[in-house]
Amino acid sequence: MSKYDWATDAFTHATEVYPEECCGLIINLDGVETYCKCKNISRAYKTKSFVIDPLDYAAAEDQGEVLGIVHSHPDGELCFSHTDRMACKYLDLPFYLVEPKSESIIVVYPSEIND
Ligand SMILES: [Zn+2]
Repeated sequence: MSKYDWATDAFTHATEVYPEECCGLIINLDGVETYCKCKNISRAYKTKSFVIDPLDYAAAEDQGEVLGIVHSHPDGELCFSHTDRMACKYLDLPFYLVEPKSESIIVVYPSEIND
């Protein structure tokens, strides 16, 4: 039995936009956790930061409840930056970090962030 796994789409997206950071949302699409690609509109350093295109965010939100935020660190470590942690807390959504080469994912929840 094959099951859709949003992580596969996130890894593919991260590979496509390399060396820039990918960003996307996990939404609840009719009960299935689904990855929605978003455009990274960070102006300066797309290899080191991401800003989700608000139009993409709004379009994803129209399709289903947003369950989490996904991004990649193309050549960086698989650990959240201070900015990532602040954004997670601020947006009050789980943050996922994906690394396509090793197909690894880590997650942090807003409730875990106290700094
Ligand atoms: Zn980051």
